[in-house]
Amino acid sequence: MLGARGRFDRPGPACQHATVTTGDTTGDTTGAATGAARPATGAAAVSRRIAAIAESATLAIDRRARELRAGGADVISFGAGQPDFPTPDHIVEAAVAACRDPRNHGYTAAAGLPELREAVAAKTRRDSGLDVAPEQVQITNGAKHAVFNTFATLLDPGDEVLVPAPYWVTYPECIGLAGGRSVVVPTDPSTGFQVSVEALEAARTARTKALLFVSPSNPTGAVYDPAAVAEVGRWAAGAGLWVVTDEIYEHLVYGDATFTSMATVVEELADRTVVVNGVAKAWAMTGWRVGWMIGPRPFIAASANLQSHATSNVANVAQRAALAAVTDDLSAARAMREAFDRRRRAMVEALGRIEGVRCTEPRGAFYAFPSLEAFLGREVAGRRPQTTLELAEVLLEEAEVAVVPGEAFGAPGYVRLSYALGDDELAEGLDRLARLLAG
Ligand code: PMP
Repeated sequence: MLGARGRFDRPGPACQHATVTTGDTTGDTTGAATGAARPATGAAAVSRRIAAIAESATLAIDRRARELRAGGADVISFGAGQPDFPTPDHIVEAAVAACRDPRNHGYTAAAGLPELREAVAAKTRRDSGLDVAPEQVQITNGAKHAVFNTFATLLDPGDEVLVPAPYWVTYPECIGLAGGRSVVVPTDPSTGFQVSVEALEAARTARTKALLFVSPSNPTGAVYDPAAVAEVGRWAAGAGLWVVTDEIYEHLVYGDATFTSMATVVEELADRTVVVNGVAKAWAMTGWRVGWMIGPRPFIAASANLQSHATSNVANVAQRAALAAVTDDLSAARAMREAFDRRRRAMVEALGRIEGVRCTEPRGAFYAFPSLEAFLGREVAGRRPQTTLELAEVLLEEAEVAVVPGEAFGAPGYVRLSYALGDDELAEGLDRLARLLAG
């Protein structure tokens, strides 16, 4: 049910203009003999490139949880990758005003509203310490779109990208769609899920073009200290690589952890770094779909060209809302971070009390990533799950608790639990988990 790979049982509307030729790659040659035009039908209508995309396991578990809820089940979901807070009022008000302003009713520049590009440059100076010009900023349809644009603009077929695992599901898919190859570099709790320069060096080949670097991390919550960021950055600079840094969780760090933007500690990387970021997580704006990418001017110009043909500008009203977010004083973001921190500590404590669960303390983002390996091959609620994919199904069906299996992040044996949910729900969900796993 929670298949690791998605299936396209019935692809959407058939293409009216498909002409079958002898070079047909659909595998259906019935029309080839006559060369007659015929509508493509069935699975063959989907290209191999697109059919190879894995379904996001995060969305799959969310969908299953929603289905069970619709059937009356009281499911508690640790699957969400988004804050449970509404968008702060001052941002919503800015959007309401933007709706009424006819300036926002037509097309605008594909790379983003000039005011927002300017404000993101200023915000990046303030929060990351990076000195960038507005022309180095491109506004995208969420940070996810920035990830897609980045790899589409950066990679030629066969180029390799070093991807430390556990990784967020979307990276390998975007790398693959761009014709590149993900070279996965595993990490584990012994280093707090942080990648070492030795492991990176061992994975590097003549085709390595870029390193993907994510701190704070989804799914592990790992946050690299400044010295560790500098060490990895110096290695990448020495190897002549590009670095793609996903900084979407920059404001969600806890305890003594601090956020460090790699290009601030390794200046040589300034003209080979692409920063991915957005308003989704720190301002509770996942649905508004505003993110951005920051890079060298020619790189951003090329990527804006791509975007001009793919999507044109991001919705102006959403951009105006994002402008209100990135120019605020971060007090709303700080209040949300305090709530996340409280829940983080509650979750780590509760997980620590379940025998067999091992959980490295997350220091950033809003996820815990415990190992549930001890429960594989053992009886849980009368079943015997062999993988965390199967165990996640058991948890959902028997305890009505949704978690995302580690397989989705290239890390079988683990599960991801988001702590972006209400305190009471969080406590109840962890209680159910504890009861089920206690046998
Ligand atoms: N990067 C990471 C690491 C994320 O976890 C997410 C959201 N799950 C994104 C990027 C995408 O964010 P957005 O909603 O802005 O597309």
